Amino acid sequence: MPVSPHIPHIAIIGGGFSGAALAWHLARDTSTPRRITVFEPRPFLGAGLAYGATDPQHRVNVPATRMSIDTSQPDDFARWIGQTDALANDPAAFRPDGSAFPARAIFGRYVANRLAPVLHAGVVTHLRHKVAGVYRSSVGHWIITDVMGQATAADIVVIATSHPAPQPPKLLRDLHLHAGRHPVLVTNPWQAGALEDIRTSDRVLIVGTGLSMADAIVTLTARGHDGKITAISRRGQRSHGHAAHAVDPVGQFISPPSRTVGHLLRRVRHALAAHPDQPWQAIFDRLREQAPDIWAALPLPERRRLIRHLRPFWDTHRFRIAPQAEDVLHARERAGTLDITAARLAAVQVKRDRFVTTLRHGDTVWGGTYDTIITTTGPAHDAIIHTVPYIRELAAAGLVEMDATGLGLHVDALGRACVGSGHEDTLFVAGPLARGRFGELMGLPEVTRHAEKLAVIISALSASLPIVHYPEKERATT
Ligand SMILES: Cc1cc2nc3c(=O)[nH]c(=O)nc-3n(C[C@H](O)[C@H](O)[C@H](O)COP(=O)(O)OP(=O)(O)OC[C@H]3O[C@@H](n4cnc5c(N)ncnc54)[C@H](O)[C@@H]3O)c2cc1C
Repeated sequence: MPVSPHIPHIAIIGGGFSGAALAWHLARDTSTPRRITVFEPRPFLGAGLAYGATDPQHRVNVPATRMSIDTSQPDDFARWIGQTDALANDPAAFRPDGSAFPARAIFGRYVANRLAPVLHAGVVTHLRHKVAGVYRSSVGHWIITDVMGQATAADIVVIATSHPAPQPPKLLRDLHLHAGRHPVLVTNPWQAGALEDIRTSDRVLIVGTGLSMADAIVTLTARGHDGKITAISRRGQRSHGHAAHAVDPVGQFISPPSRTVGHLLRRVRHALAAHPDQPWQAIFDRLREQAPDIWAALPLPERRRLIRHLRPFWDTHRFRIAPQAEDVLHARERAGTLDITAARLAAVQVKRDRFVTTLRHGDTVWGGTYDTIITTTGPAHDAIIHTVPYIRELAAAGLVEMDATGLGLHVDALGRACVGSGHEDTLFVAGPLARGRFGELMGLPEVTRHAEKLAVIISALSASLPIVHYPEKERATT
């Protein structure tokens, strides 16, 4: 069979922030020649689910000064905003203390802008195709098939398709509804135009009280909605806001390491009591800083216990809400049009053009009638192995498996995909899907750091790979 020489080819599946940041950091290392291809159906690299948001009211939830594609230039985004005047038409982005919370799409534009030179130079290729399958070839490299029917060969593959669509509760999946007619069920509020059929006076039930609930309420409010909104979750906790002024992290949670969740919790309570002069955000910021070491010290049963019992508390304290969104929630609570409460949906029926529901919290049961239900329970990471076709195929081939915590895919300390005690040398996972191993790997700063580390590992690997000659019929089509 004819063969042809090639330089190492790295294929990144998914060009949201994780894939784009990895491509950018890989491209900056010019010590060895390599090709980098990012498969991403969206028009620009870097946007993904979070920063491809089309509603200008959907803002980043940390100040612009803490978001950057490059940890050595932590104020890169803020400087780019200054240079491009990207917030000229959005005075509401600025807070009285001068901090800025731009629309998430602005951050997406910034990342795309940073990627532009390496795309232009041909160091990185953006293939606007959705990947359908990833297979090992007969000679050990990877074949990526996309929905356009193309097959692309690569030496190294990185999975960076973090956030799958949300999975609505089964009760809602079983309902038979008519599109465009009431009652309205929105199971994926991130879909463009998802909230358009909701009337301004609709009584709305939102299932899930995290940041996506806030996004949905902000969108509805901007569209003039002033009907009653009831938002429910198991504990009725919603994401908290930022401290009134910038704070330095406080506390110490890793030396000696906590081996149980109980011990960790006592430490956190002690730190909160020991620093009454500090806002709780200062303690949680230190926890977030030390999260990888805290996580690494906990044995698996304790990690699972933490997810089961403490995740709602962690998520609502660590994922802060943008102040502009918080203002909207406060205003609606004051106006009596927003009620956030601890409950679960126990039953639901469609009667004429309404949902007639039974809500339950412990032994207390009550009813509610709604015109619309929106589920904001977040991406269904725990189901990714069943719902994302190319990952399902990889799992069926024994090349990936879920992490034992259920947070994402099983990877080792180098980010390589693992099954049992074995690992794939050339199959990596970037971004939040790797957080079962690393603990906190969702927020932008952590994802950036992870992309930088992965770029170093993959660069070294690509420089040391044995020269493989792809059989002609399996050569890259790029
Ligand atoms: C709604 C939301 C808002 C957030 N806001 C903030 C914030 O303000 N501040 C902060 O610090 N963190 C925030 N985060 C967290 C963090 O920044 C994101 O989790 C991070 O951007 C993850 O990006 P990603 O590239 O890993 O995943 P994604 O954004 O999910 O990107 C994955 C990409 O893969 C593509 N893809 C999917 N399937 C395929 C396929 N088969 N073939 C090819 N491509 C495919 C998708 O089109 C998508 O662009 C937010 C997260 C979410 C979900």
